[in-house]
Formats: sequence, structure tokens, C-alpha cells
Amino acid sequence: MEGAVERADPWLLTLQHSPIGMAMVGLDGRLLMANLAMSEMLGYGVEELTARGFQELTHPDDLDADLTQFERALAGEIDSYRLRKRFLHAEGHVVWGDLSVALVRGPDREPLHFISQILDITAAERERQSMEAVFETVSVGLLLIGRDGRYERMNRRHQETMHLPFPDGHEGTAGQLGHVYHPDGHTLMAREDMPSYRATQGEEFDDYTYWVGDDPLTRRAFSTSARQVRGPSGERLGAALAYQEITELMRAMKVKDEFISSVSHELRTPLTSVLGYLELLRDNQSLSPAVRTQIQVVERNAVRLLALVSDLLEVGQVEEGGLRLLYAEADLVAIVADAAEAARRVAATADIEVRVDQPERLVARVDQQRIRQVVDNLLSNAVKYSTAGGTVTVALRRAGDDTVLEVSDTGIGIAPDEVDQVFGRFFRGGGALEQQIPGTGLGLDIVSSIVAAHGGVVSLESELGRGSTFRVTLPAGGGGFEARA
Ligand code: ADP
Repeated sequence: MEGAVERADPWLLTLQHSPIGMAMVGLDGRLLMANLAMSEMLGYGVEELTARGFQELTHPDDLDADLTQFERALAGEIDSYRLRKRFLHAEGHVVWGDLSVALVRGPDREPLHFISQILDITAAERERQSMEAVFETVSVGLLLIGRDGRYERMNRRHQETMHLPFPDGHEGTAGQLGHVYHPDGHTLMAREDMPSYRATQGEEFDDYTYWVGDDPLTRRAFSTSARQVRGPSGERLGAALAYQEITELMRAMKVKDEFISSVSHELRTPLTSVLGYLELLRDNQSLSPAVRTQIQVVERNAVRLLALVSDLLEVGQVEEGGLRLLYAEADLVAIVADAAEAARRVAATADIEVRVDQPERLVARVDQQRIRQVVDNLLSNAVKYSTAGGTVTVALRRAGDDTVLEVSDTGIGIAPDEVDQVFGRFFRGGGALEQQIPGTGLGLDIVSSIVAAHGGVVSLESELGRGSTFRVTLPAGGGGFEARA
């Protein structure tokens, strides 16, 4: 070979310096010539290599596959072949190679020798095997979908759950309808709502929850996330989906909601009776002023208890199939004025001013009682989370066809990382807990349910230590809302 290089035959030069392992292989499999890359890859000197046959350098488990192709080439069935196989390094370890073999023929098409090229893919293969191990070990179901919606791969975990939604089998294309239900457990999912279909439409999402299986006893709940898989220039190659089973969590949540609902129901009846009798006692002139004052304290606490129980019941109702609204034309100005008046009584004792900023009249079709609850909850929070000398402002206005209600305060504010959480059920902020301000974490959950049932949205802007503004926007029409100034 050295002599060949000295003669500077360009082909030999290329062969010698190529980063790809190359060899000329005789018809018996013996290496007639090998380059430096090959010798480095397999740990033998060039001379040592040429004394060996490829059979000896191949991992025993991959030898048959190579020999079969080798024989086919010799038999004239093929001229070349490609194989991913394991080689044995001089030190005994395995080297993964991507092998390309071509048969060189003489003028009469008689086989002369083979040219083999081997790309060392050990590092890539190791990476692939690690990924494979992770793919199969994680406790979530994983699915890869191609650009055309065909299922390309899924791990065992996902395979094991496929029979629940698709007892008659799956054809391997996204969007196949099956026993897949929305979180309410009985509304069947349409094709465009299926997570796999949404993912093939280019969507990305997290925590998409649903039930699979038509038997209520064995069905399971999943929370799914999807991400798009993209090529080097950002083109869509497909999508990856992860399915986390959350059956236990969903069942526990349901039991919790039923428990809350039934307990609060049971508590309300005796409490109402207690309040009725307290009212009679309060008016009883034969009692001493001292006793009457004590009765007032009992009554105040019973009223508070009733409010808490009502909040809990409210939450239960939302779970049981949404709020049923009773729409009627109502003057929101009057509702806000009444709520502000009630809030002023509590605010005054804490030296907090309550201001109202609204037009003379703003009529809309709403569920009056529910909207009053929204205003009451926002106002009572604004007062509760304010400090002495602070101001609470409730403003009502039209914005195009929408109606906007804003409740702002100069109170303790909400930390940025809590802003998205305050509407969650039972969530209590750090400030509320630190300063031991009483509450259940239900008020804003109820507010957002009522606003959503009206087709509106509620948003929040807040700065820690400076105050908060809650903004409720209710649409005209759609949500049954017809605002008229
Ligand atoms: P609660 O007031 O009973 O705790 P809410 O659901 O009404 O429950 O509110 C949830 C959390 O949001 C509160 O615990 C508090 O941390 C925060 N929050 C609500 N309103 C305000 C406000 N106006 N200013 C500061 N924090 C507030």
C-alpha cells in the first residue's frame, strides 16, 4: 500500500485517507487491502487486517445475515448490499458499523473482488439504544405519528392500553374513532377532538384529559401531551404524544366532589334552622342586652358558616353538570350598588374605602343572583386582602358590545407565579396564608365558573404589595347577555 501511495494514484490516496473504513475483500472473504480508518476502527494494524477474513471480524450473531448477502452477490443475484452489523474490535468489544458492499466484476462479468465501506456508528447506536431503553422504561405511553397521520412507533406501555378504546383493533392512523369520552365520562369524542388527530393537525397541548373504555368499571382516564417533531429546517415530520394514566386521580376527585356536595347539603338544613331561631331570639325583648349581644355574635358566625357551606355546595353543582343559569333583564348598576353597600359595612370597620364608578343604568340579560355572587366575591376579596387606609374601586362600563366589571384594590397583591393559580379550586395564596387571612380558596373558582357559564372571561392584573385588579368581561348575545346602556 505504501508503494501505491507513493505513486500517488488518486484513488489509492482517497482510500488511504478516507475517514470511512474501506477494504478490498477477496471472493473467499479475506481482506486483500484495508485503509487506516478501518485499522483504527477495529484496532488491528493494516497488515494484521489483511491476514484475516471478514467472517472472523464479524460478531457471530450478525455473520449469517452478511454471509447470505455475500453468497447472493457471488451467485449473481445482486451487485451490492448494505447492512448494519456488529464487528469485533481487537480488544474484544463490539463496534457498530454501517456496511456497504459492492462486487467488482471483470470484463466478462466474472467476480473479481468486493469493495467494502464501513461507517463507524457505535456512538449513534449507543445513543439509539439508550433512547430505546428510555422509550420502553418510562411509565407513560409514548406514540410517534408520521406527517401523514400514520402511527410509526409506540412503546409497550401504550400498546397495552390500546385495547380499551379500540377493542376491535386499531388501523394505525390518527383519528380512528373508539370508546373515547370527554372528562364527563359519557360524551363520545368526535374525530377532531381525538388527541392523535389534533396532534396531526399540528397542535401542541398539555394535560388533555379524557376517559377510554366503554365499561365504567374498567375504563381508565388519561392526561395527554403532544409536541410536533420537526426537521432541520423546521418542516413538520410528525408528532410525539405522551399518555399519562390518571384514573386514580380522577376517581379521587370525583369522590371528593361528591363528598363535599353531600356534606354541605346535610349541613345547610340544620344551619338554616339555627339561624331562624337566632332571629327569633334576637327580637326577644325579655332577654338582657348582654345576652342579646352574645346572640348577635353567634348569629354572625352562623351566617359565616352558612356562606361557607353555600360556597361548597356551589362547587358541587358545577361538577354535577355545570351551572344552570336563570336569565332575566337586570340593571347591573343596581346590583353593583347593592353589593358595594354591603361591602362598605365590613370595609368601614377595617378603615377601607369602597368607591363605585358606573353609568346611571346598564341593563343586561344575566342570571342576577349569580352576577351578584361574582361582585360580592370580588368585593369581599378586595376588602379582605387590603390594609387599613386602602381603597377598593368597583367600576362598570360598556366596551363595544361587551360589559366590563372591574374590581381593584390597593391591597397586598398577588405574586406573579400565583396569578394563574388563584382561580383554582381550594387555592390559597402565600400572602393569605402568611397573614392568616381567613378563606377557603373557593371564591374565585366560583367567580370563574359563573363568568364562564355566561360566556365571559375573567382576568387578573396584580402587583405584589401594590394591589390587584380583577376584570370580568361579559359578551352581549352569545352568552345570553344583551347589554344596553
Ligand atoms: P379565599 O379568599 O377564600 O382564599 P379565593 O378563591 O377568593 O379564596 O381566592 C384565592 C386566593 O387568591 C386567595 O387565597 C388570595 O391568596 C388570592 N386573592 C384573591 N383575591 C385577592 C385580592 N384582591 N388581593 C390579593 N390576593 C387575592
